Amino acid sequence: MERPASVVKELLENSLDAGASEFRLEVEAGGRRLIRLADNGSGMMRDDALLAFERHATSKLSDVKDLLSIATLGFRGEALPSIASVSRLLLETRSPEERVGTAVEIAGGKILRCDEAALAAGTTITVRDLFFNVPARKKFLRSDQTEIAHIASLVTHYSLAHPSKSFLLRHNNAELLAVTPVPSLRERVFQVFGSQMLEDLVDLGDQARDLKLPLDEGEFIERRFRLRGFVSGPQVQKLNRNSIYLFVNGRLIRDRLLLHAISSAYHNLIPPACYPFALLFLDCDLEEVDVNVHPSKTEVRFRHGSLVHDFVRDTIRQTLMQQRPASNMTIPSSPQLGAAMPYSEFSQGIENMSFSAAPPDIVDASALPEFALRSPAAPAPRFDFSDEPAAAAVKTTIPETHGPLLTAAYVPEPESLEALKDLRPLGQIHDSFIVAAGRDGLWIIDQHVAHERILFEQVLAARSAGKVETQRLLVPLVIELSAAQQIEYARIADELNALGFETEPFGNRTVAIRSAPAGVGAGDIEKVLFEILEITESELRSASLDDLRRAMAASIACRAAIKINMRLEPAKIDWLLRSLAATSCPMSCPHGRPIALRYSTRDILKSFHRI
Ligand code: ADP
Ligand code: MG
Repeated sequence: MERPASVVKELLENSLDAGASEFRLEVEAGGRRLIRLADNGSGMMRDDALLAFERHATSKLSDVKDLLSIATLGFRGEALPSIASVSRLLLETRSPEERVGTAVEIAGGKILRCDEAALAAGTTITVRDLFFNVPARKKFLRSDQTEIAHIASLVTHYSLAHPSKSFLLRHNNAELLAVTPVPSLRERVFQVFGSQMLEDLVDLGDQARDLKLPLDEGEFIERRFRLRGFVSGPQVQKLNRNSIYLFVNGRLIRDRLLLHAISSAYHNLIPPACYPFALLFLDCDLEEVDVNVHPSKTEVRFRHGSLVHDFVRDTIRQTLMQQRPASNMTIPSSPQLGAAMPYSEFSQGIENMSFSAAPPDIVDASALPEFALRSPAAPAPRFDFSDEPAAAAVKTTIPETHGPLLTAAYVPEPESLEALKDLRPLGQIHDSFIVAAGRDGLWIIDQHVAHERILFEQVLAARSAGKVETQRLLVPLVIELSAAQQIEYARIADELNALGFETEPFGNRTVAIRSAPAGVGAGDIEKVLFEILEITESELRSASLDDLRRAMAASIACRAAIKINMRLEPAKIDWLLRSLAATSCPMSCPHGRPIALRYSTRDILKSFHRI
């Protein structure tokens, strides 16, 4: 037992093993004063109740250190005795088959009493004064706040894995988590994280794939892998991995391989230093996963790791591309307190994993001119939907939305970026953001990042087709490189040429640019090149060629894209929206910034207190 959360974990698992469907957990002072778990499981007969502590009721009891090491090594059948050896424990239990129950009291491993007691069926275990007889352990406990955060995160995890069971967590009489049984994971997510979060999530459904796995001597075997759960759209950008919940065959785990697979799924969708929300349940043949790698069984090793990695990455990525989740312009709702606890036992170990931090660059709002919403000069007939049958639908949207939303707790499917296809542009704000009316509310599109996404995909497509458009410079541009840049340049010169830069070394540490990718303004060519050299130098030194290519394409796209503070003709706006709709990923720009924000009809109605 390392800390109060480890005790809670063992107690919860015992209750689950006992078939309980109700878990009521009370904690005081971060768990050091009190941890009490009451369940409605199978309970124990009198003899079993004593037996549960037997193994250590003998010689080893005095040697607390021994007990701790056994417990942390995760030997089965040692949890209760070791908890009892470092606390004052009261076990109250009654099997439904028996009329009376049993109460066993133990302090520091010594059985103080074992009596008959009138009890409800099930088991309640009360652990007081944890580590009272192990001062060295006690000293290592962190603040109450930290300890309860561990516990809350743990209980939240279990509640997500078991939607059909009820969980209650109270700390110093404050309720941190309270969920009742629900029929689906979706509803549990709603209970735990709130409706707003749910709207930002994409349901992976239940995706199974039969992977062909290599065995020895060139033989193969087919095994089924299933992935279900929820992941966030690119608009959700967390600064750490605490919102990633992973279960393999129903067990809570943390695993670098899976974390990496998730991060790769979001490559070029969210900024490199950000993480999504993910609640993933991966199920596979027990032979494919070794759970005994880590003593606390929270780490696993897959037999065919890279295939599992790619399955998870591709499933998430494809689902995101298909569902095209939109970003909402709404006030964040608060999840249950327990779910918002910032610190998790299961993320702690990987907090230190390195990642490159690049703060997202953000438009400085104060630098923008005064607010002015204006229509495009002459509204072209192409924006007129009146002769289309769809026009009627637009008019009836509000009354329709009005009705069903009144039913309590009903959460409609968020409308995806499919809606981009038939937006009706209304104008620009600050010559920078396109405002458009959709069938589902109001949309604002950042013209720069929208164009960036379009160009990014165009550049990559042209690159792989070998048909990159270039512009020949009238006079070659000669630039000087530092020693480090010179090395990078030599490494990526071929790829630069393939992307439309015609360059050649021109004396010592000097490069001549003869052509550049089409669309990049003359003044920007040098900047793009230096930007690319910078990327390769820093984060991508060890990256794959594919990642490098994408990063280069992103840089070119960014420089070639329409800027903000630029007045656009209606035809150009129209073209931009339609081209964006046609991209494979209109959710975010290659650097991970959102492209379009939606103020949904429902949220509008809500804000006006109409629903
Ligand atoms: P293990 O779970 O590995 O068997 P533990 O020390 O955690 O070992 O528990 C010892 C035994 O006590 C369990 O095998 C089980 O029979 C019994 N037990 C513990 N908690 C409960 C509970 N909540 N309900 C019913 N039986 C329990
Ligand atoms: Mg156990």
